[in-house]
Order: sequence, then C-alpha cells, then structure tokens
Amino acid sequence: MAKKKQPLTYTLPDEFQAFDFAQDLVAWYDSQKRDLPWRINKDPYRIWVSEIMLQQTRVETVKPYYHNFMDKFPTVQALADAPEDEVLKAWEGLGYYSRARNLQAAAREVKEQYGGIVPDTPEEIAKLKGVGPYTAGAILSIAYNKPEPAVDGNVMRVFSRLLLMEDDIAKPATRIKLEHLVRQTIPVGRAGDFNQAIMELGALVCLPKNPQCLTCPVFDYCLARKEGVQEELPVKGKAKPPRPVQLVAAVVRKGSELLIRKRPEQGLLANLWEFPIFEVKGQGDETAVLLESLEQEHGIEVEVLDQLTLVQHTFSHLHWEVSVYLCDYLGGEDTSTRGRFVTQEQLAEFAFPNVQTKIMEALKQKEAEATLL
Ligand code: SF4
Repeated sequence: MAKKKQPLTYTLPDEFQAFDFAQDLVAWYDSQKRDLPWRINKDPYRIWVSEIMLQQTRVETVKPYYHNFMDKFPTVQALADAPEDEVLKAWEGLGYYSRARNLQAAAREVKEQYGGIVPDTPEEIAKLKGVGPYTAGAILSIAYNKPEPAVDGNVMRVFSRLLLMEDDIAKPATRIKLEHLVRQTIPVGRAGDFNQAIMELGALVCLPKNPQCLTCPVFDYCLARKEGVQEELPVKGKAKPPRPVQLVAAVVRKGSELLIRKRPEQGLLANLWEFPIFEVKGQGDETAVLLESLEQEHGIEVEVLDQLTLVQHTFSHLHWEVSVYLCDYLGGEDTSTRGRFVTQEQLAEFAFPNVQTKIMEALKQKEAEATLL
C-alpha cells in the first residue's frame, strides 16, 4: 500500500518571540502606515487590482495608473464588460501586460461564476487567472481578514532576516517553508494588517541594501540583527541572464500616415500595437530583413531611409536590441488583417508597449529637429 504523504511541518525557532513580535509590528503599522489609494476601504476588487499592479512595480509608479484604472473600471462588472483594447490602453506604460489580460479574464470569471463577488476561499480564489499564492493571500487577508500568508520577495527578505534563515529564496521550496512560518506568526483577528505591516516594513525599513535596523520597530526580535548578519541575507541564487535578441523595426510613412499593427493574440506583448518589428537572426542584414518581412507579412514595398534610433528593452527573460529605420511607402496593398495606416494624432488611441513609445519619442524628436533646420 502506498504511504500517505505527510503534510509539511516547519516550526519557528525557539528563540523567536512570535507573539510579541506580531503585536509590536502591528502597533507600528497602525501608527506609521502610508496613506495609499488602495487602503481607503476593504473592497476586495480594489485590493486585487492594486496587488496585480504592484507586482514588479514601485508604489509611486502604480499610483496614477491605479487612480485612472479605478475611474475607468470601478467594479468587477465594469472591467469584465470593457473591450480588451481599453484595458490595455489603461495599462499602457506599466509593463507586464499579461497581468492586465489575466486580470480582465479573471474579472469575467468572477462575474459569471460568482455573481461579481470576489470569492473568499483559498480554493476558489486560487483558480482565478493570474492569481498566484501571494495575491490570493493578500486579497483573503486584507479584504476578508482570513489568516492566510501573503509571501512575496519583500516578505521573504524580511522573514529570512527575522528568523536567520539561510535557505535560497529563489527556490520554490523556500517560499512554501516561509508560508508555513508566516502563517504561524499571524495574530488572531489582524491578518490583513499583519501582512501589510510586513510589506510596509520591507518597503520602508528592512530595505534590500542598508536595512535601517536602528529605527526598526522589531529590532529586538530580529535574529539576523542579533548575529550582525542582516546584510548577508537573504540568500538568493543567481537567475539566468536575459537572452539577447536582435530586432529591426520600421516606421513606414505613407503621406501623413504611419503603419502600425496589432501583435498576435498569444505570446509576448499579446494584442498590443507596434510599428512592425522583426527578429534579425545570426548576422542578417537589417535592411534586407525589413524589406523582405514587410513584403511577406504586409505585401508592401518600401524604401528604407535613415536609421531613426536604437532602442533597448529588457524583459524578465529577454533583452531586446531594436534598430529602428524610417521608411517611405512605395506601393502595394497591406494584405495583413492586423496592419493599418493611421495619423500621428490617432496613435494615442492605441495601446503600445514601452519599447514602441520609445520609438514614437525618437520620431517626434527627429521631426522637431527637422522643423528647426
Ligand atoms: Fe530588518 Fe534590521 Fe529590522 Fe531585522 S532589525 S527586521 S534586519 S531592519
């Protein structure tokens, strides 16, 4: 007979005074917490949107996007019913666009399966698209005050120091271990405030470099600080560097209009708009790649003029180096279903990723320089 799998058990170090630590931390949070737009109430939808926006993105960057997004899509229903292009436009510039697409897909699930009410059980919430263990824990604890851990990179750093843990936080097993340990530390009835207090501590005091131990509200409990090794923690294995990719992009002018196209429905930057962009493999000739690709994919002929700019952009797994050329349209009908010519004023109606807005800026600068001559 197969052996039954035992649940994992991890225990806090004996010398860590979890109860007193949690009380002091929450008291500090009560008196010092920042006034943030997603903290004005406990609406689970508002909290959910903020948590998705805050992934990989700084608080100050998120704030204006959050205000704009909540104005446009104030409820689950409003987000579920909006055209995807509008949602992507509201996300333009924030990056990691799959977050926006997943958020809307999940809002549609909430509308259809839960009558527009964000579910309040770990099992249901974890099934929503784009909601991982951290986001699920954050929504359940902050909106519904359920005693669930919300462990992200900041929390892993803070707890590695507090508990003097040398486990590699890049490993999934360490996150699971920390979820168990944080769960044991959550004070009764204050789960949401406790999770936010740890995040606040990580953002304001227990910084990645130079933790501010002398002003830390939990100085007395921190095991790494007692050993003087706080700056050596957390242990984090090296991630693979992003893979370099050479690309070439075309700003094709046809009178006062420019050619743009919608990216495919799947994959990187899905459904966003772009000036046509193509990969240059090996030692390929950029101009030849442009001419051939525009003909094959759009059925148009162009004359390649000057190089407009060189744009670099790093994604989590790729590093793009894009050589951008100004081109003049010569002939042919655009046979693709995703390309169209639009005026420069109309560009503002479409959602472009950052790498493309850099191309627009270079174009504007070039035009401004030309008018000065
Ligand atoms: Fe972080 Fe220092 Fe506070 Fe420990 S004492 S939690 S290392 S800031």
